[in-house]
Amino acid sequence: MDDSADEYPGATTVGDFRANVARVRARIDAAAERAGRDPAAVRLLPVSKTVPADRVRLAVEAGCRRLGENKVQEAKRKSAELADVDVAWSLIGHLQTNKAKDVVVFADEFQALDSLRVAEALDRRLQAAGRSLDVLVQVNTSAEEQKYGLDPDAVSGFLRELPRFETLRVRGLMTLALFTTDTARVRRCFQTLRETRNRARDTDPDLIGPGELSMGMSGDFEVAVEEGATCVRVGQAIFGARATPDSHYWPDSTTGR
Ligand SMILES: *Cc1c(COP(=O)(O)O)cnc(C)c1O
Repeated sequence: MDDSADEYPGATTVGDFRANVARVRARIDAAAERAGRDPAAVRLLPVSKTVPADRVRLAVEAGCRRLGENKVQEAKRKSAELADVDVAWSLIGHLQTNKAKDVVVFADEFQALDSLRVAEALDRRLQAAGRSLDVLVQVNTSAEEQKYGLDPDAVSGFLRELPRFETLRVRGLMTLALFTTDTARVRRCFQTLRETRNRARDTDPDLIGPGELSMGMSGDFEVAVEEGATCVRVGQAIFGARATPDSHYWPDSTTGR
């Protein structure tokens, strides 16, 4: 997108990061209030993917104590480079079973669980390491347009399989909305996630933890908050526009924003 550099000013100092985070936070709070929700019920997860470790360090200094990363190798490398600072890591992108061992090294939250094979691989590694992992189940709320995530109708059955993986602590659901500027269609994705969570709560209240809804990114987080998000994952509005096209991260998305 040509105007994204204007829309998302870069951040190269601690002060820039403080200002960007404060601006995003204020927009979250306002959206929550519009919807009659408690702003404190929405956490902001800054997403540092593609941003080099020296600049990520400034964001941590500005108060970002948890960061989201979408790719395992990049996240593992950065977490090692920033081992001397106080920051926790959430993996928010698709995981292949053969990378489960790397996740256990750096992450304490995984937001993109979408198969029993991955659950099993993680559980085995976590058992060996003697620790647990917070997980959110990724749901495909846009039907055919994305590859990752469970069909909403499959969520309840999936949740019922998870208690046997004792190291995984289910916290709720996560989704990526459609890649479109059509707000009504984006909103429908968020509503689908909320309805899926509500259904799971009705049928299996013990299986979904606090029932978090991780949804909304730089382009749509206010809509997500209006629809009930408890976690918004925001990269560009905090770190500045990404040079890498989104198709690099979502190879199966068919349209650009
Ligand atoms: C990159 C990414 C985000 C943040 O996107 P921005 O446009 O940078 O806000 C959120 N969620 C996931 C899964 C991502 O990969």
